Formats: sequence, structure tokens, C-alpha cells
Amino acid sequence: MPRCPTNVLPEPLHAFLQRVTRPIEFACRDSYAHLGTLANLGPFVSAQVIDALTERTYSRTIESDLLLLRELFVDFHAGLTTDQQRERLMQARELLIRLQTGRPEKQPRYEESADPTSYHAQSVNQAVRPLWEFPIQFAKGVGPKRTLLLQRLGVKTVEEALWTLPWRYEDRSKIFAIKDLLPGMTATVCGVVAEATSTRSRFRRMAVLEAVIDDGSGRLQIVLFNQPYMEDVIKTGTRLFLVGRIVAGHRGWHRLRMDVTHCEGIGEETETTLHAGRIVPIYHETKGWNSRQMRVLIRTLLDEFGGDCEEVLPVRVRARHRLLPIQQALEQTHFPPAGTDMALLDKGLSVAQRRLAFEELFLLQTALAIRRRRVKEEQKAVRFDPHTPLLNRLSRLLPFRLTSAQERVFGEIQADMVSSRPMNRLLQGDVGSGKTMVAVHAIVMACGSGCQAAFMVPTEILAEQHFTNLKPILEALGLRPILVTGGRRSKGRAEALRMLQAGTAHVAIGTHALIQQDVRFANLGLAVIDEQHKFGVLQRKTLRDKGYQADVLVMTATPIPRTLAMTVYGDLDVSTIDGLPPGRRPVRTWLFDDALRGRAWQIVRDELKAHRQAYFVYPLVEESEKVDLKAALQAADRLQNEEFPQFRIGLLHGRMASAEKERTMKAFKAGEIDILAATTVIEVGVDVPNATVMVIEHADRFGIAQLHQLRGRVGRSAHQSYCLLMSSTTGCRRATRAGRLPAEEQETSIARQRLDAMVKSNDGFMMAEEDLRIRGPGEWFGLRQWGLPEFKAANLLRDADLLQQARRAASALLEEDPHLHAPQHRMLKAGMLRRWQAKLDLGSVS
Ligand code: ADP
Ligand code: MG
Repeated sequence: MPRCPTNVLPEPLHAFLQRVTRPIEFACRDSYAHLGTLANLGPFVSAQVIDALTERTYSRTIESDLLLLRELFVDFHAGLTTDQQRERLMQARELLIRLQTGRPEKQPRYEESADPTSYHAQSVNQAVRPLWEFPIQFAKGVGPKRTLLLQRLGVKTVEEALWTLPWRYEDRSKIFAIKDLLPGMTATVCGVVAEATSTRSRFRRMAVLEAVIDDGSGRLQIVLFNQPYMEDVIKTGTRLFLVGRIVAGHRGWHRLRMDVTHCEGIGEETETTLHAGRIVPIYHETKGWNSRQMRVLIRTLLDEFGGDCEEVLPVRVRARHRLLPIQQALEQTHFPPAGTDMALLDKGLSVAQRRLAFEELFLLQTALAIRRRRVKEEQKAVRFDPHTPLLNRLSRLLPFRLTSAQERVFGEIQADMVSSRPMNRLLQGDVGSGKTMVAVHAIVMACGSGCQAAFMVPTEILAEQHFTNLKPILEALGLRPILVTGGRRSKGRAEALRMLQAGTAHVAIGTHALIQQDVRFANLGLAVIDEQHKFGVLQRKTLRDKGYQADVLVMTATPIPRTLAMTVYGDLDVSTIDGLPPGRRPVRTWLFDDALRGRAWQIVRDELKAHRQAYFVYPLVEESEKVDLKAALQAADRLQNEEFPQFRIGLLHGRMASAEKERTMKAFKAGEIDILAATTVIEVGVDVPNATVMVIEHADRFGIAQLHQLRGRVGRSAHQSYCLLMSSTTGCRRATRAGRLPAEEQETSIARQRLDAMVKSNDGFMMAEEDLRIRGPGEWFGLRQWGLPEFKAANLLRDADLLQQARRAASALLEEDPHLHAPQHRMLKAGMLRRWQAKLDLGSVS
């Protein structure tokens, strides 16, 4: 498409302007006399803008003006006062004038090619595209083949390429002369291949490349194992860059050898400056694409597009936090200037890297703050009554008083419920801290105010348990609870659903099927979501999509380290129950290996004899559920027949029918079963206070969060409880040379650290921090389930301080400009929406 000369409007834009100008002018005419009659102005303008934007690509300035225009109208009819509407119309007129007169467009990046079929002719279309839409295949030097390779690395656009950051660096600023090398050192050498041979080792058919390198000062033998693809590189006459460890060669000290860890062919002099004689970035590679190629590509992109990198951080934020401009930050992250501290670079703490990390975190925090704000701006239809007599009756029914922590937290929830805004609160408290009771208070308050409540839990077992426990209390208050689970396809279910829809049932307890399936409420006022980490963050959206304006209380025992809480739950208000109900004793935790099984069993026997009960938990060992089930069944048999013949043993696993599960749980709760052998179905929530022993088989296969949850099943009474971790790997070698262990051993060492953490501490929050430390945030249990962002530069564990700063900066900025309407925040807003709109359900943020 030919470029439009400055000041001549592209035809479609002209038509668009005519279409929207008319109604807007009409609205303004006669001192806004017609404003009231234009019920559809908002949707109309907004739809027109979207059409215009999809129809063709405009310059960035025009696009952002169009978006601004749309923003003025998105919520035009939603609660704006007439004055505000007039103000918007004024702004719209200004914008329209600006669009009419047009501002000079940016020069396109390519001159138009004479031959319309040529490769460059295609790129002209891309000329005015921003980098995040600029396909990498149109960048210089990237053909179709490279496009595919890059796609494999997750790079589709120029922006994505520029944000593909080095994962480490090598200091090649000092190049050693071969004559100065000494055995034992790791060095960088640059020389020409004098001889090269490639063989296969006899034993393992391993490819071995050998060569002799000459740098004018001497000769060096080099060996590469198992890198057959380097054959093309290591050819007589090519110049190489080599990094590796120097060892004594076959003939001893006189002929040194290098075990090469990194090898690159270097060509012309100009290129050399990229790959050598400096601190060099190392990227993730894939077959057919190596760091060297990436370096060249990034260099080209930076030269060609660096100036077009959009600066999303507002100038004031950058000034305040002393952040480099984006272009410089990218430049210095890819190609650190001479003298940059290598230690900082490797830790990701150089000035440039921190700048990029800050940007990522700042965008996230801005998005979260906006979401938080939006929720707060919503109005709910119901007002809950904090003085409902039902609450008093509830406290009289309970055998205990709420602890002060429970009282405080319920107070916070009450305040939310009374307010005119929807509640969006996270309640965290360690396992056994009594979250359920707090939820029951909220539920009773909702019902006492004439609303229905939903109590959602992750498993059917838990739903049934809550139902059984809460039914008597709720019924005593004159409320009717019903159980709704996916598994109940019976007449009873249909009846239950009918009562919910009719409003004759007040509390629905069930799995998340409750809000996902055919369930309809007459008047849902409160949704409590237990063990939130099993669900994901977007429950509110589901509720809203179903047309409910309900208050939401999510509860979790999964301890979330502070940094992550701010990320994951950054838009929720958080209440924490710190401390357990009175009289609890910390669970004693021991680690046993197979040789000490007898001792562990003695503890179990002693407890059972004292009429306590025990859980035995078996992990998912194999991929197949069937195989696991078999293992659990066999283990249960062994318990019954060989190890604890005098006690009654029950079995619980995921494949049982719900009714049967229910029966087993009831029997265990009633004390008719002494030992409950189970797969991890009992992981969360189950509450049988008389159980005092938790035996976890193959404990090394569980993550910390799971272990802690399982341990939380005991210690729920005044009796001393025990958690016995069984693991055959306890005697394993500890990692001595971190990073050098074979994968399997590393795994074992990490498992061992987890188990040690369990033995050391009962505090869920401390263990979560520990877990995060051991595994790093990428692997941390919650992240995947939450669908949490993977950052390119930021690292939640390392950058806790940056996250804090970003959060504060984002709040301050939104305090000033809540809708990011100011022109200096336009880029920020666009960048933030691009990154987070879909993920965080920002919907029609305007
Ligand atoms: P969690 O926070 O893990 O969901 P639960 O709600 O299951 O914990 O509560 C654990 C146990 O503590 C339950 O048996 C419950 O009845 C009991 N409990 C809750 N609150 C109190 C309290 N204030 N005083 C004594 N026991 C309590
Ligand atoms: Mg619970």
C-alpha cells in the first residue's frame, strides 16, 4: 500500500471521521439539548473506532488518537453525569479536529521498492507498524527459514526478538595468547584451525571433534565431545573463538589441550567486535540457531529499530527511579558496555537489566491496580445487614468462641459486605487456623440479609465434609443448605437445583461445578471459594459472566510468600488469620528411611492403641492413575494383613464412586476406621480432629505445599500429633558441587532440602519462602496453576524490592491519573493493555 503523503487523509479515515463527527456535533448542538436523546452514542463511536482500526493500519499517532476517542465513549452512558458527558464531548471534538488536520506521519522504515513483487515491497506494508506487530520475517536478514527457527524460540515479532534476553554472559574482553596458557585455567582463545579431524569414539559412538588451533603465539589442541554439528564450523582455515578449560594434553605439559565449552567461528573483522573482545551475551539456542546468529540479529535489530522502541514508562517514573531509556536499556542488556560488573550481569542486577525488570513489574502492577480500582468502583445491588439476629444465634450455637484473629478477620469481611462495593477479599490462614468458621459467619450474614450464598471447594470429599459439618448449624438457624456436586446426576440434584433457582434453598455447598454448570441462583449474594489455589484467579469473571454481582471471599491455606502474594493477588484485599485456635500443639515431624520403618510403625501403633487415628498417604508415582491405584491398594493390603492386622483399615482414592467415598469418610470420622489409606485426594481441607498421625509414603515425591497441606490434616485437637515422612532417599549424597550433579541426583538433593524444611518448621509461610528459594519462582507450585506471567527480565524472587517500588509507583501514578487519560501516559496504558488485558480480565478498561 502506498504511503499517504502528509496531511492527506487516507480515504477510510476520512469516511470514518464523517460518520462519527455527525452525531457528536449533533449532541453538542443547541447547548447539548439533544444529549439526552442519544442513547447509543457511546457504543456507536466505540464500535466505529474498532471497525476503523481493523480495516487498516494507521500510523501510531493516528491509532492512539482513535483509541483515545474510543475511551471517551466506552463508558459514556454508564453513570456519567451530564457535566462529565459534556466534558467528554469537548475532548472528543478536539480529538476529531486533530485527526482531521492530521499531524505529520513518521517516515516509513523502508523506501518503496520499484518492483511491487519484491520482498521489500511487502515490508512497506509493515512500515508504520509498531514493533510488537512487526513480524520478524520482515526484518533485515531474516528469511523464511530463520523465521521458523525463531518461532521455535518463541519469537514472532521484532519486539519479542529484542526482549529475548541473554541468559548469561561471557567476559571475552581478555583474550589469551596460546603461549600464556596454563593448565587449570579457563580461558578465551582466538586462532585459526590448522588441522581438524572428526571421529566417533568406539564405545559409546560419541562424536569427537579434534583440531589444532594456531594463534601465531603457539598451537593448542582442542577437543569437542558430542557436538557433531560443530563439524561445519571447525574446518581448516577458519578463525575460531574458543572458551574452555585448559588441561595437560597427551604429551603432558608441553602440549596443552582445551576442553571446549564454547566455540564459535568468527569471520570478517567487523563481526569480530560482536563476538569477541568484549562481554558477550549468550542466548538460548536451538538446532540451527546459535548465540552467534542471535547476536548478529539483535545487533541488526537494535541498529534498525532501536529508535522505535516504545517507551512505556512515563518520564517522571523514569526520572524518579533513575531508569535508563528503553533503547539504552535493551542495548546494554544485550551488549554490556566495557567494564560492566560481570557478577552483577550474571545475577541480572546490572542497571540495564534492572530497568527492564522494572518495566515488566510496573506494567503488571499498573494493571493490577487498575483492576483493583475497577472492582472498587463497581456498585452492588444488595446491602448486607451486619446486625442480623442470625449472627448472634450462630455464636450461641458454636461450642467455641472465635479466636481474636478470627474475630478481626471477620470484622474486615463484614466491613466489605456492608459497603456499597463488591467484596474481593483473600483470606489466608495456615492449615487448621479455622477459616471455615469465618466463612460460615459471612455466609450466615448474607443469608440473614435475605441473600443466597455459595460455598465452593475443590473436591467432592471436601464438599461433602463441609455439608455434613455445616448442615446442623445452618438448619438450626432456619437456613436450608444443599449439596451440589458434579457427580450427583440424580433426582436429588434436579430438586436441589430447582430449590436454588426458586430461592427456597439458601446455601449451596459444592465443587466449582457450582458456578460452571447449569446451576442458577435466585439471589446470589456471596460466593466463598475455599482453597483458592486450586481454582485460578478469574472466579469473579465467571461469576460476573453468569450475571451475578456477588461478593467474593477466597480462602487459601497455601502460604504465599509476600512477593508472590503481591503479584498473584495484587488486586485483592488480603486478610490473614495468624495463629491457630487455642490448645493446639505443633505437629512433630520426623523423617524416616526404609531401615527405620519399624520405629515409625511403633509410633503409629502407640497412637492407635490410645484410640487415635492415622492417615497413610500414597503419592502419584507413575504417570498412570491405574498403576498408582494398584500400588495404593497393595500397600493397604499389606497394612491390613501384615503390619496392622489388629486395626481396621479403610481405603480412599480418586476412582471410587462419590457415595462410597462419602461412606468411608463418614466411617473414619465416626471412628469406625482406625487407619485411612488414601491417595492424595485427602490433601486439602479434610477435618477429623481425632486423627493424630499422618504417614506420607515416598514423601520425596511431594512438593512442599502438598506436604504441608497433608500435615495439616493432623494437629487439629489438643492431642500431640505426628507427621512421619517416609523416604528412601534420605541417605543420599548431598549436592556438593552445585550444578554439576546429574539431573537425578540434583532432583534428590532438592527433595531432601524440602523434607528438611518440613522437619524444621511448622510455619507454612516460612516453608513457602523456603520452597521458593529452593525451586525458584518459575517452578514454584502456584505459578503454573495460576497461569502466572513468565517475565523476561524480572525474577520475583530476586526482585522483591523492585516489585515493591513498582507497586508504589503504579499506585501513585493512578492516584493522579486513574484512567491513564493523560497524554504522557498513553504509551503506558497501551503497553499495559497489550500485555495484561486478556490475562487479567481487564475487559473494557477505559
Ligand atoms: P482451615 O483453616 O484449615 O480450613 P478449619 O476451618 O478446618 O481450618 O478448622 C480447623 C478446626 O478448628 C475445625 O475442627 C474447627 O471446628 C476448629 N475451630 C475453628 N475455630 C475454632 C475456635 N475458635 N476455637 C476452637 N476450635 C476452632
Ligand atoms: Mg479449610
